[in-house]
Amino acid sequence: QKFMSGLSKTSSSLVGAMNDLFTGRNKIDEELYEELEEILISADVGVKTTMDLVERLREEVKERKVKDPSELQPLLSEMIGEMLTREEQANQLTMNQEGLTVILFVGVNGVGKTTTIGKLAHHFKQEGKKVVLAAGDTFRAGAIEQLETWGRRVGVDVIKHQAGADPAAVIYDGIQAAKSRKADILLCDTAGRLQNKVNLMEELKKIHRVVQREVPGAPHEVLLVLDATTGQNALIQARQFGEAVNVSGIVLTKLDGTAKGGIVVSISHELQLPVKFVGLGEKADDLQEFDSEQFLHAMFK
Ligand code: GDP
Repeated sequence: QKFMSGLSKTSSSLVGAMNDLFTGRNKIDEELYEELEEILISADVGVKTTMDLVERLREEVKERKVKDPSELQPLLSEMIGEMLTREEQANQLTMNQEGLTVILFVGVNGVGKTTTIGKLAHHFKQEGKKVVLAAGDTFRAGAIEQLETWGRRVGVDVIKHQAGADPAAVIYDGIQAAKSRKADILLCDTAGRLQNKVNLMEELKKIHRVVQREVPGAPHEVLLVLDATTGQNALIQARQFGEAVNVSGIVLTKLDGTAKGGIVVSISHELQLPVKFVGLGEKADDLQEFDSEQFLHAMFK
């Protein structure tokens, strides 16, 4: 299974370390908790989330009078499971049942935004939906061409202006084109330069206003794309983008290249945002819906 093999780096380091910890000891003591903290932090669960988890674990151990370290593994797995699935059904994308669904993608350069849009276009197309892409990143050199390449590869139309054009105007045109072509879904790329944060955030707000005005109920999703290999930096980015737009969910890319898959837990717990998709490679079908059951299984089997 792709989801599991994509998580194999995280899985093999974490599972091994936990197994050693929980089976290599005969009592639950301070040292064990400290080592557990180290293991979780090194898998990028994050300091705050790790502290919260270990604190809760201590309470449960006391309450349930747990003595055997081997009983900690299922307990921990249960607690992480609760963190991941607090919002029921939250992993599903919100779609417009009556007309055009508009999804905005935001995130800093290089995280995999354009690639994710290409992969999702492929995913929807395979479901028989009509998809249009809007090349709203008019700033990064090559971004428009890269989106066009994806458009050709998966066989969907791309609406674009020239480099440097007003992104909100591109998105506006994208919406008109999607409506007249009776498309089901419009996927909008946006710029991710952080050199001029204020400008970028104003630009995103303007795009948001245009989308809201042109399609009632839109945007149906604002997906923040984060790169799993950047670790806790991803959380800082999430807070910055959250100030400009109402992020509805996360796409976590490059999970295939890291042993730090614990970032998923951190994102759910500290940002209270659902991880909707994970990127597990560079090809069109290397995007998977996030499955918390399988994720837990990969991390704690
Ligand atoms: P953007 O600047 O956010 O649009 O980023 P791009 O879509 O251009 O992606 C940056 C690089 O990351 C490209 O080389 C992609 O092929 C690569 N990439 C994107 N998603 C993934 C992923 O899930 N796994 C891996 N291994 N690479 C990815």
